[in-house]
Amino acid sequence: MVRYQQRGGQGIVSWTGDPMWLADVLRAERLAVVEHPGWRHRGHGDFEAIWGVMVHHTGSSNTPANEVADGHPSLAGPLSQLHLARDGTVTVVAAGVAWHAGVGRWPGLPEDNANWHTIGIEAANNGTEGWSDVQYDAYVACCAAILRRLGRGAERVIGHKEWAGAKQGKWDPGGMDMDRFRADIAVRLKGGALMALSDHEQRELLDKVRGVHRELTHDLPTRVADSDYSDTIAGYVLNSDAADYRNEQRLRALELKLDQLLTEVGLERRR
Ligand SMILES: [Zn+2]
Repeated sequence: MVRYQQRGGQGIVSWTGDPMWLADVLRAERLAVVEHPGWRHRGHGDFEAIWGVMVHHTGSSNTPANEVADGHPSLAGPLSQLHLARDGTVTVVAAGVAWHAGVGRWPGLPEDNANWHTIGIEAANNGTEGWSDVQYDAYVACCAAILRRLGRGAERVIGHKEWAGAKQGKWDPGGMDMDRFRADIAVRLKGGALMALSDHEQRELLDKVRGVHRELTHDLPTRVADSDYSDTIAGYVLNSDAADYRNEQRLRALELKLDQLLTEVGLERRR
């Protein structure tokens, strides 16, 4: 099937082209990446604006990547852009549109038209066997890598069952709580902010943080006589708070004393 259909964007305006960056961003996320021969030129035409990611299970524990790349007699491949193996290896099989979504609906996506707007990931899993830590973590990382590139949050990941559950009775990815999956992706996106920087940028940022830390902790003379330790800004602030408190107590005591004296001489202090 080599049909290429141009569809209306229906409110989606930012066209970013085909995701030629897939292999790069996955590698940057420290995933084991295999590039299917010619993946940059494979697909059923060009993407429209990419909204996000749709995740699937293949229905079998050991579906090889080339089955997702080539499809089957009734549906010519690619069946998604990425294949995720049980051991966490990701194979990039296509940069163009793939047949993975079918009819369905989801807020923000044009009805029955998700293939042109979502990057599909097919994970080798029969849907009832559960998800090993290694495959689940790689799934989270895959989605995070793509969302980071798109500049989107975890809400832009949906399961095929969320898209097509009502229209097609799809239940993939089986055994996966999508809200929990999105929460895990959100955590990964947050934690990965540093990782998204280049090595050089990371070193620069760490040097800056070290500098601030040094200023906060090591460049102040100690307030304790004969101590080898230097003081901290926090120590100075606490110390000045304590001095404030002591002065306040002294003032109170003086006021009380004054009141007593005035009472003794038969006068009352005017307040
Ligand atoms: Zn599916």
